[in-house]
Amino acid sequence: MSPDNHPTQQPARFDQRLLAWFDQCGRHDLPWQKDRSAYRVWISEIMLQQTQVATVIPYFERFMARFPAIRSLADAELDEVLHLWTGLGYYARARNLHRAAQQIRDQHAGDFPADFEQVLALPGIGRSTAGAILAQARDQRFAILDGNAKRVLARYHAVDGWPGEKAVERRLWELAEAATPGRRVRDYTQAIMDLGATVCRRRQPDCPGCPLADGCQARRQGNPHDYPGRKPRKALPVRQTTMLILQNAAGEVLLEQRPPAGIWGGLWSFPECPPDTPPQQWCASQLGLETEELTPQAPLRHTFSHFHLDIQPLCGAIRGAPTRMMEPSKRVWYNTRRPDARGLPAPIKALLQQLATESDQ
Ligand code: SF4
Repeated sequence: MSPDNHPTQQPARFDQRLLAWFDQCGRHDLPWQKDRSAYRVWISEIMLQQTQVATVIPYFERFMARFPAIRSLADAELDEVLHLWTGLGYYARARNLHRAAQQIRDQHAGDFPADFEQVLALPGIGRSTAGAILAQARDQRFAILDGNAKRVLARYHAVDGWPGEKAVERRLWELAEAATPGRRVRDYTQAIMDLGATVCRRRQPDCPGCPLADGCQARRQGNPHDYPGRKPRKALPVRQTTMLILQNAAGEVLLEQRPPAGIWGGLWSFPECPPDTPPQQWCASQLGLETEELTPQAPLRHTFSHFHLDIQPLCGAIRGAPTRMMEPSKRVWYNTRRPDARGLPAPIKALLQQLATESDQ
């Protein structure tokens, strides 16, 4: 007993405060929380990497309508998977999903594994994602450390340094493990993600409305924005490319499939002419196409995580019928007004839409 004869009041633990907040304010009706299965949680977790919930929901619904089970995803053509991913970006995620589904079909009889190490062995699944899937789908006690959890924990405990550094990451994992409760792991996992997304936001944390405000060190110090520490800045390099928008007499545009690895791997794009090569000459020698003069269009920049890509589109018609030098499986004439199901990088899709609009005018 305390000197004033009252039992000592222990402040509620981190997880208890978070769960009490979640019961009142958390998200309980997300599409992957209904008919919850490891497959649905897995797809949602991969889509949610680098992408916000509101953006993900329609993609998730379309994906599930087309691939309601792991086997349907495993048996699908990669092109169709990439098509459903068009616009979400970070296409390696879609390629890994497809490979992982095939691995589950071939090695686990089509059932999503329940063992952490087996989940971790699937392409595209790291420690945090494996933990999130098992915690949410099966209520197994595993910690997560996605971007939201990192931000909440780094601020709450005022952990200095950039989480990309090993020592900082290790410290955050220790804190994540210690905070994860033995009960209601599923709700706790959703709660810490929800708190990071809706209260402890990157730019405008709502500290007065936060259930963790009492114990939060960053709040006490008055500097939540300093956590987590930022990556040391480096200017992104710029790469340049010339894309050829070639149209046949029917107004169709030539697209080619990119190699499976590397940027936009497996997606369909315009042929790219190397710098310092006259484009018409290149079309004749590489594509077997004679072209009219190619005219420059407005350049555009697309930024990847590690470089800027400056794209110079050149547009022109081909002369006569194409010869059949082109590999038919890797190149197609694409009708911009009747787009078919194929994966397109966002800037290519925008250029095709622009062409369709112009041809309608
Ligand atoms: S008090 Fe503020 S900084 Fe701390 S966890 Fe809550 S929202 Fe984030």
